[in-house]
Amino acid sequence: MTPSALVRFVALGVALILPACATQTPLAPQSVSTCETGATRLTQDFSTAPDYACERAGEAAFALTVTPEDPDINPSPWYAFDLHAEAMSAAQVALEYPEYRHRYHPRIELEGGHWAALPEDAISVSEDGRRAVLALEIAPGATRIAAQEVITLEERALWRADFGDRTGMTRNVIGESREGRVIEALTRQAAVSGAPLIIILGGQHPPEVPGVLGLRAFLDALFGEQTDLSVLDRYQWLIIPDLNPDGVEHGHWRHNTGGLDLNRDWGPFTQPETRAAFAAIEAQIAQGHAPYLLLDFHATRRDVLYTPPDAAELTPFAFSEDWIALIDAAWPGDEPAFDRGPSHNVGMPTSKTWFADTYAAPGVTVEYGDDTDRDRITALSRTAARALVRYLGVAQAD
Ligand SMILES: [Zn+2]
Repeated sequence: MTPSALVRFVALGVALILPACATQTPLAPQSVSTCETGATRLTQDFSTAPDYACERAGEAAFALTVTPEDPDINPSPWYAFDLHAEAMSAAQVALEYPEYRHRYHPRIELEGGHWAALPEDAISVSEDGRRAVLALEIAPGATRIAAQEVITLEERALWRADFGDRTGMTRNVIGESREGRVIEALTRQAAVSGAPLIIILGGQHPPEVPGVLGLRAFLDALFGEQTDLSVLDRYQWLIIPDLNPDGVEHGHWRHNTGGLDLNRDWGPFTQPETRAAFAAIEAQIAQGHAPYLLLDFHATRRDVLYTPPDAAELTPFAFSEDWIALIDAAWPGDEPAFDRGPSHNVGMPTSKTWFADTYAAPGVTVEYGDDTDRDRITALSRTAARALVRYLGVAQAD
């Protein structure tokens, strides 16, 4: 159904209802809960779903007010909700952004846990970006719509357990979030004592799902069957995939529940999540593993590697230049696989800047685009992982 057809549908519904109500007492102002009752309902009661104010605008029409967890925040307006219908029917959801602009093209969950972008003609965004209207044809039962693929905390825990089992890594709890959710690390022991430490982080910013998909594909390729394990054995690996479980659970745009962007807390370490990561890193160092490299997985508007500045006095020297050259040598076509940003957030307490300042070792933020095709995310990650193995293989021979 086209948006204009849907508008007619909604208008007709209102016209039919009004005369029936005219002889009765005036209706009380509709409360938020009215979205959650009736033949067609909208609910936001699952892991990753924020609790936005919802108003019913018609029998099958809803308006959500999309607001951040804290003021003055990175513009990552996440949303996630379920629509429930008793029969095949049309529904409309307006996303209202009082202070921000629509960013994420909606995705819909299909059977078998697969997700697809909504067709372009199912969404109309106002010129100023303050309002996006989704016109949907929904099947009986529940239909899940979100700003990106929904990956619940439970699914993340299952993935970590499965990955640990598949790769023989040690999985342990390194701390708890502010609300007491576990933060886990996976550790792969080096075959030699005193091996250099490589740290891989993810999940600091809740809406950055392409970063989760990219991290998983990267880890699968890195520790998969095709890798020369003797290269990996020369390093100690510490992997912390889900650093902000509270933010994910509540559908935050950016922060943990302490009102902080965790990737601005490396150095201050005022939050339990970053403190847990720091303690896990320090514990590895105490066992004789000198920090060698940190990779931190995120998502933004494009595929980009935020690296230390050119010729930064770090060891290994010029890691990112060499790694990127290896990635691009293996990447098909003339375009680079990732853009490169060598001076992003310089001087900010991000993980990569803290790592470079503290240990004089390179940190790289690996960013995937919000709308990057998911097959491309996998291809980028595989290429980057194989290039890293190649780099490390040469580095150990030096
Ligand atoms: Zn991020």
